[in-house]
Amino acid sequence: MVTPRPFALCVYCSAGTSDPAYLDLAARVGAEVGRRGWQLVSGGGNVSMMGALATAARAGGAHTVGVIPKHLVHREVADVDSDELIVTDTMRQRKQVMEDRADAFLTLPGGIGTLEEFFEAWTGGHLGQHAKPMAILDPVGHYTGLFTWLAGLREHGFVPQAALDRITLTADLTAAFDALDPGFANRPETGAGR
Ligand code: AMP
Repeated sequence: MVTPRPFALCVYCSAGTSDPAYLDLAARVGAEVGRRGWQLVSGGGNVSMMGALATAARAGGAHTVGVIPKHLVHREVADVDSDELIVTDTMRQRKQVMEDRADAFLTLPGGIGTLEEFFEAWTGGHLGQHAKPMAILDPVGHYTGLFTWLAGLREHGFVPQAALDRITLTADLTAAFDALDPGFANRPETGAGR
């Protein structure tokens, strides 16, 4: 008999900051992945929020899958403790593998790399390439400016409401996980477009 694999959450987050508040947020997310019995798919680095996330997920009993392009193995300190460490030839392959291995996406505060990953998964979902749920956990207003701008783009017809509705934007960790959890019947009404 084949045992079904655990629900796989792909998390995008910073590989740069050393601010303890952000590292703590990443660690709390990792712990929650373990608490829910999920597996973690992440960028396969052991630095900054990415490292705190994967370390806490493993400590919480989660199976962790790290996906890193070969040219970043040293720079992002490949997470050799990953249960699976997948080294890709290119950054594009990294994103594809992360997306393929995920059942849902959670974005935490990050920089241009995080934004790039988030936008690619978001636009892919909007264009019908996948139907996986997406959430942003933002307890500190990191993305307030971005979503204010996106609301303006919606008003002027550049961004459809349906695209905004695909994203659950919340400051609350439990609400973010509940929005992605396939076993959670009453999804909170926290879409970014509301
Ligand atoms: P940052 O948010 O800039 O700290 O980057 C977070 C993660 O995104 C790091 O692991 C980067 O290697 C990764 N990243 C940067 N650029 C890209 C890209 N074009 N595609 C996928 N991941 C990227």
